[in-house]
Amino acid sequence: MTEIENLLREDLRGQSPYGAPQLDVPVQLNTNENAFAIPEEVAAVVAEFIGRELRGLNRYPDRDAVALRTELAAYLGHGLTADHVWAANGSNEILQQLLQAFGGPGRTVLGFMPSYSMHPLLARGTGTAFVDAGREADYTLSPQYVRDAIAKHDPDLVFLVSPNNPTGTALEADVVDAAYEAARGIVVIDEAYAEFARDPRATALGRLEGRERLVVTRTLSKAFAFAGARVGYLAADPELVEKLLLVRLPYHLSSITQAAARGALACAAQLQAEVDELKHQRDRIVKHLRFKGLPVADSDANFVLVGGLRDAAAVWKLILDRGVLIRDVGLPGRLRITAGTEDETTALLDAFDTAIEQRP
Ligand code: PMP
Repeated sequence: MTEIENLLREDLRGQSPYGAPQLDVPVQLNTNENAFAIPEEVAAVVAEFIGRELRGLNRYPDRDAVALRTELAAYLGHGLTADHVWAANGSNEILQQLLQAFGGPGRTVLGFMPSYSMHPLLARGTGTAFVDAGREADYTLSPQYVRDAIAKHDPDLVFLVSPNNPTGTALEADVVDAAYEAARGIVVIDEAYAEFARDPRATALGRLEGRERLVVTRTLSKAFAFAGARVGYLAADPELVEKLLLVRLPYHLSSITQAAARGALACAAQLQAEVDELKHQRDRIVKHLRFKGLPVADSDANFVLVGGLRDAAAVWKLILDRGVLIRDVGLPGRLRITAGTEDETTALLDAFDTAIEQRP
C-alpha cells in the first residue's frame, strides 16, 4: 500500500471512480446525453441571460437561487412553488445533498440495481451504506417486491429511478405508493429522463402533496440538452428543502449557472421539439431491434436496453470499430444505446446490423 493509500479513508481504499469511457469517435451514444446541440436562437437567449450577470461577478450569487427555483417550479406545474424546489450542480449534487442530510455514517440507502451507477458511489462518498435489493428476473419492479425489500432492510432512504437507467422503463404509480407506504424514511424518485416518457403523466410530481418524505429529482442535462451546464433540481415538501440548506456549500450554484439555466427554461417549448424527435428516434431503435428478433424493453427514456446478444462485449467492439460508441453496462447479453439524431441513429442501426451478422 502506498503512503497516500494508507492515509485514505478505509472505505475508499482500492475503489474505482465513476468512469464512462469518453472516446473521441464520430457517433457518441453512450452517456444518454441529448444528441442535439443547443439551437442558435436558444444559445443567444442563454448568452443574454449570462451577459447580464458578468459585471456583477464581483458579488457572490444568490445563495438560495430564488429566481431559478421560481422558474423551475413554474416549469414543473402541479401547483409547486419556489419553496418546494431546490437546485444544484446536476442531479448528482442534489442526490449527494440528500444523502448528506438524511444518510451518512450508520445509515442505509436502499437501491434496486441494475440502476444508475452513481447511486452506490454517492452513497459511499457520504459514508452511507448502500444496500442493493436487486430486481425481478426481467429487471422490473412490482409493488410487492419493493414492499418486501423495504420491510427487510428498513432503510433511511430509498432510491427508485423512473424511467430507470439502464432499462429505460418508467415505474407504475402503484410502485411509488407502495415504497412510500412501506418506508419510514425518505423516498427519492430519480426522474432524470421524465420528459422522454411515452405517457407524460408517468411522473411522481403529482403524488408529492401530503407525502412529506417523497422527493422527485430532475435535471436539465437530458431534456434541455444542458449536460455541460450542470443543473439538477428536486421537488419536495418545503420543510425537507429547508433541511438541505444545512449541507449545501455556500454559493454552490454560480451566478453564471443560475442565469444559464433560466435562459434554457425560457426556451423550454423550443427544446421540447428536440425531445419529441429523440423519442421518435428511440422508438425507431426499439422497432428495428425487435424486427431483428432481439428482446427490447419498452423505453420511456432517450435510450434503449437491448438483450439477446450471445457476446455483448464483442458486439460492442464491432460497433465501435464502425465509429459508434454505445454502452456495455455489464449486464450479460445486453447493451445500452442512446438515441441520436436521425443520421446518428441510422449509423448506429447499420453498425448494429453488421455486428450481429458477424456475432449473432
Ligand atoms: N440520474 C440518472 C438516472 C442519470 O442517468 C443521470 C445521468 N446519467 C443522473 C441522474 C445525473 O445527471 P446530472 O448530474 O447530469 O443531472
